[in-house]
Amino acid sequence: MARKFFVGGNFKMNGTKESIKSIVKGLNEAKLDSNVEVVIAPPALYLQLASSELTAANVEVSAQNVYDKPNGAYTGEISVAQLKDSGIHWTILGHSERRTILGETDDVVAAKTKAAIDGGVSVVWCCGESLEEREGGRTVAVVEAQLAALAAKVSGADWNKIVVAYEPIWAIGTGKVATVQQAQEVHEAIRKWLKAKVSDAVADETRILYGGSVNGKNCKDLAKEKDIDGFLVGGASLKPEFIDIINSNL
Ligand code: PEP
Repeated sequence: MARKFFVGGNFKMNGTKESIKSIVKGLNEAKLDSNVEVVIAPPALYLQLASSELTAANVEVSAQNVYDKPNGAYTGEISVAQLKDSGIHWTILGHSERRTILGETDDVVAAKTKAAIDGGVSVVWCCGESLEEREGGRTVAVVEAQLAALAAKVSGADWNKIVVAYEPIWAIGTGKVATVQQAQEVHEAIRKWLKAKVSDAVADETRILYGGSVNGKNCKDLAKEKDIDGFLVGGASLKPEFIDIINSNL
């Protein structure tokens, strides 16, 4: 089946009211490929501002994180129900910055993913290896272990609400993009794993995004690969070239 191309913009801890309004204005005014599903993920404080400013078709707002408990004494956290209550239907989970800087384990990420899906919020679920793991020939094993922790918590139907983002840690924010072959190889391995461990349908239908120093120049070649179904973009999502990335296939 044809998988709809998907582009996510992860603003990370960047932006002000003014700059986020300006990015959203840029998207509203741009001619965007109507065959692409887009989400932008500003910091939590600006989710509602971005939503209220957004008029572009096929663009939605996503959180960058969510907690797996429904409510209560969890200072600093935001629940799935609160996202829904604020009109937010997407979240990124398991970004490598949260795994490495904030100590989120595969199991924590899987629990959050399950909670989001059960609460009706779709997830851009991130995985990927460190440079040391790649150099040690462990890339596929690391990604498979991350997938296995997720698959242990989610059921077959839950995969409809998951978009996988393969983001090699050594390529994030470094300007060092994976080669087209390196990216395709891991995407293919992920799809094979889904086929073997989940189902043919989930393997066919799940979008697998590449993330790691994607920009307006390298996006077109990456987008041509058969298992690359879009991008998760950090730095370049704050710049006008984000539009070129969304329009990679035009
Ligand atoms: C990211 O943060 O998900 C990312 C891919 O960042 P960058 O595009 O800046 O490498």
